[in-house]
Amino acid sequence: MPLYEYECSACGRRFEVLQSLGSGSKGLTCPHCRGTALEKMLSTFAAAGQDRAAAGGEGGCGSGFT
Ligand SMILES: [Zn+2]
Repeated sequence: MPLYEYECSACGRRFEVLQSLGSGSKGLTCPHCRGTALEKMLSTFAAAGQDRAAAGGEGGCGSGFT
């Protein structure tokens, strides 16, 4: 089960939640202030994946075009 990070709009704190894929922030509450205005953060996993895809896509662009 993936780990998601949320930021609470009410108190500004972040916390992590274990959720099954595809479930949103419905029913979740901030453990600090019990607020329900939660914003999903990009997980480390997702950020690393994007980084790698971008590097691979641009790789062959400059070489061989002289
Ligand atoms: Zn909060």
